[in-house]
Amino acid sequence: MTGRYFNRRAAVFVGLIVSLSGSSALAQSNGGSSIELQRQGMEVVEAAITATGGRAAIMSANTVELLVSTEVYSLGQGVRPDADATVGDGGPITLRYLIDIAGDRHVYEQVLSDTANQPRARLVVLPDEIFVYTPARNIVQPVVDMTPLRPLTRGLPYVPATLLDATDHAASIRLLGDKTIAGTAYRVVTYADGSNQQVALYFDRQTRLLGRSEIVESHEQLGDHVVEIVYDDYRTVGALRIPHKISVYTAGTLATVSEFNDVDLAATMDAALLIYPDSANQLPALTGPVPSPEMEVTELSDGIYAIMNATAGYNLMFVDHGDHVFVIEAPISTAITRAVLQKIDETLPGKPVRYAMITHYHYDHSGGLWGFMTNGTTIVTTPGIEQFVYDVAAVPRTLDCEPPLGARPGVELVRENRTFGSGDTAVEVYDVSPNPHADELLIAYLPALKLMYVADVYNYTGQIQQNNELLLPLADKLEELGLEIERVLPTHGQEATGETFWESVRLGREGS
Ligand SMILES: [Zn+2]
Repeated sequence: MTGRYFNRRAAVFVGLIVSLSGSSALAQSNGGSSIELQRQGMEVVEAAITATGGRAAIMSANTVELLVSTEVYSLGQGVRPDADATVGDGGPITLRYLIDIAGDRHVYEQVLSDTANQPRARLVVLPDEIFVYTPARNIVQPVVDMTPLRPLTRGLPYVPATLLDATDHAASIRLLGDKTIAGTAYRVVTYADGSNQQVALYFDRQTRLLGRSEIVESHEQLGDHVVEIVYDDYRTVGALRIPHKISVYTAGTLATVSEFNDVDLAATMDAALLIYPDSANQLPALTGPVPSPEMEVTELSDGIYAIMNATAGYNLMFVDHGDHVFVIEAPISTAITRAVLQKIDETLPGKPVRYAMITHYHYDHSGGLWGFMTNGTTIVTTPGIEQFVYDVAAVPRTLDCEPPLGARPGVELVRENRTFGSGDTAVEVYDVSPNPHADELLIAYLPALKLMYVADVYNYTGQIQQNNELLLPLADKLEELGLEIERVLPTHGQEATGETFWESVRLGREGS
């Protein structure tokens, strides 16, 4: 608690030094407005803290427990780029969020509805350690980058903590101005949080309460965009006013809706939640969309290569077509794709990557588009995805310091099927839709190896059992095409034999 007050005093003190030391230089100007905007912003935040119940009441709640029901909509996983975001399987998830404000310790648990004491997974965020523990499998995964977890944690801010966080970073607070959204007038303040993320806070002019917050982010497909969090349904809990509904929008599209079922201001943080058993199996760290140190090029035959583990468990292929290279799949992110391009150049020095084929538009299969387009690579896709490729090319990417492309990227379309290259390195590309996974879905077939590269509708991790709804339509289509398959390389997982693949199909057909 003392740290909090010290920080605030230090910030005001630093502000004072700046204004004093700058006073002679600015004597001739009308300057000094930044410190004025800082002071005004601070007043707005302090008014919100008062309206929320006051600093003393906020600090007296040592540990807060929120029980929340969250509906998660996944972006970029629908059947078409313009389809609505899909709701995760099984409807809303139940989350338990424990926050110790003074100790800066946070625990997020995804609770199974029938066994509330045995969470499916627990994310523990401590000042010096972040990890995810999965009790049922007794595995632990350190977290070195919160990016993949943000969709979960973003839906669960505890507003009183957000307000204190802003005053903890008082030196960065500025009043931005006034804005009216949907008939409600707000005062808007920005500040930079502990991770240097600039946050805009919208305070209701009437109630003084936090009504919305915003951050500006970068995204592989959407480019620069806004993430908005809307706080509704404020209710009185003890001495505090707490919002009971929180909606998160990504680039204007609903991402999560959280309803608070219970708020307990007098909870306790069980120390056992903050550690994991010594016996837990340690998995590689959760790192976000970055290349894996295990990325490996394997030559399958003369001129045909697989790149295994471009990022953990994610595979793609490239083929030497004489004066250029043909790549199959555009993995997850620009960073991974640039690492892939480097691997290709190490294998086939100086050879340009002329084509990159994407199996379908889903975000984990099109995240590498920008990396390829800035490399001058032509994108191979289906007619329904052409506009999507142009859209990804056109969005501004100033947050990533990426200059505009300048021209439309090259696009080559596959209708039903098309062959690239010839002879022993020919790549046959087939549209295997209809499939419930995506309206347009390509596979690559390398006749020299009788090898099929396939995304999502068949994943192999040693499991014969598959999602039959997706697998059986693919199998029907393969039989219709008369493709002889001896090897299968899925995007996700490991290589399977043709027998293994067809065994899954046989089991699926028996079961359906
Ligand atoms: Zn997919």
